[in-house]
Amino acid sequence: MRSKSSTPDAGQASTDRAGLQDLLARFSACGATPGGGVTRLCASSADGAARDLFGQEVRAAGGTLRIDAVGNQFGLFALAEGEGAPLVMMGSHLDSQVLAGRLDGTYGVAVALRVGDGLMRARRAGKRFAADFCAVNWTNEEGARFRPSLLGSATYLGGHEAADALGVRDDDGMSLGDALAAIGYRGSDPAPPRPACYLEAHVEQGTVLEEAGRPIGVVGRNWGATKIEAVFTGAQAHTGPGRMERRRDALLAAAYAIAEIRAMAEGWPGLLHTSVGRIQVAPNSANVVAGRVEISVELRSNEDAILAEAGTRADALLRAAADRAGTDLTIAGRSERPSRALPEAVCRLLADSAASTGHEALRMDTVAGHDALSFLGICPTGLVFVPSIAGITHNEAEATAPDDLAAGLAVMRDAAERLCRCGGDPAAACGEASP
Ligand SMILES: [Zn+2]
Repeated sequence: MRSKSSTPDAGQASTDRAGLQDLLARFSACGATPGGGVTRLCASSADGAARDLFGQEVRAAGGTLRIDAVGNQFGLFALAEGEGAPLVMMGSHLDSQVLAGRLDGTYGVAVALRVGDGLMRARRAGKRFAADFCAVNWTNEEGARFRPSLLGSATYLGGHEAADALGVRDDDGMSLGDALAAIGYRGSDPAPPRPACYLEAHVEQGTVLEEAGRPIGVVGRNWGATKIEAVFTGAQAHTGPGRMERRRDALLAAAYAIAEIRAMAEGWPGLLHTSVGRIQVAPNSANVVAGRVEISVELRSNEDAILAEAGTRADALLRAAADRAGTDLTIAGRSERPSRALPEAVCRLLADSAASTGHEALRMDTVAGHDALSFLGICPTGLVFVPSIAGITHNEAEATAPDDLAAGLAVMRDAAERLCRCGGDPAAACGEASP
C-alpha cells in the first residue's frame, strides 16, 4: 500500500453517515410505495420530484446545474483555479423499475452529491485541487419505461444521437422527449466535456460481498449481455370456434420459447444467466387467440464464448418455437455487450481508498449493467459495490446496512479527493496520500 493509512476522523464520519441517510430518505419519498420501495419510472412525475431534489442539493452545495438534451443532470463543482481544468465525474441514476428498491442507482447519485458537497467544503477550507468535480444523474438507466437501458450515459458518450434517444417510445406510445418535456427536464444546456475519470458507487444486487463478509467490492470485470427483442406473429382468432389444428397462436410460440430460454441456462451452471422479463400480448383478451406477441430475451455470461454460443442457440430455439406454433418470427432488436475488464489503475486506486478508510476491498465481477460500463474504452472508469442484504434487488425489500452505505461513501470521497488533487489521473492519484 503506497498511501499512508489513516483513521478517518470519527466526527466527520458520523456527519457523513447522517447526511447520506437523510438524503437517501428524501429521495425515497419521491415515488414511495406502501411496501417501502419506490416506483420512479424514467421521466414520470416521481422522477421529476427526484430530479428537483438533485438540483436543490447541487445548488445548496455551491455547484451549478446543467441539463442536456436527453435530460441528463450534471452538478458541476468548480474546485480548480481557472477555467478548463479536467473533470472527475461521479454518479448513477434516479430512475427505477416498478415496485423497486430505494437504493438501486439512487445510492450512487446520493454519494456523488455528498462527495461534491464535501469537496466544496474542503476547497473553502483551503485545500487546492487540479480538477473540477461533477455529480451526474443519468436518464433512463433502467430501461424499464424506455428501451434500451443506459440510454442517457450512452447518448452523452456518442453511442446514440440525441434525436434518436428522444424518439424512443414507452409501451403507451409516448416518446422520451415528450415525457421529459412534461416534467420540465428536456434540457438545452451543453453537456460538460468528457471526464478525465468516471466513478460510480452502486449496491451489489447479488450476494458475493455478503457471503465474503466484506463491505466494499471493486469491480474488475463486467459480464457480457445479449438482449434480443423477438416478435411472434400468428393469426388473431376466436378462442372458441376456431379449430385447434388451424390455430397460429403467437402466445403459445412465446410460451415454448420462454421455457426453452430458461432450460438453456442449465447447460452452463453458474456461467450463464437467462431470462425473458417482458412480454406484450396483442390483443391480450381472454377469448382471443393472440395475433402478436413480443418478448425481451436476455442472456448474460462472463465468458464471451459461452455468450456467443448461447446467442446462436437462442436464435435457433426462437425459430423452433415459432415453427412449432405455426407463427412467423421477427427479431426486432438485438444488442450485444461484451465482457470486458475495467481499467487496472482505477481498480488499484479504489482498493487503495478502501484500505485508507479501513476496508480490504474484494475484487469482483458485475453481472448487471451500469452506467460506468458505458465509459469503457472512452476514459478510465471505476465501479464500487456495497453489499445488498440477501441480494434482494428490483424489489421493494432491497436494503443495505447503514454502516456499509457509509463505508462506500468514505471510499468514494477518498478516491474523488485524490483524483481531484491529481488532475483526474488515476495512476497519479493512486500514489497520493489519503486526504
Ligand atoms: Zn442501477
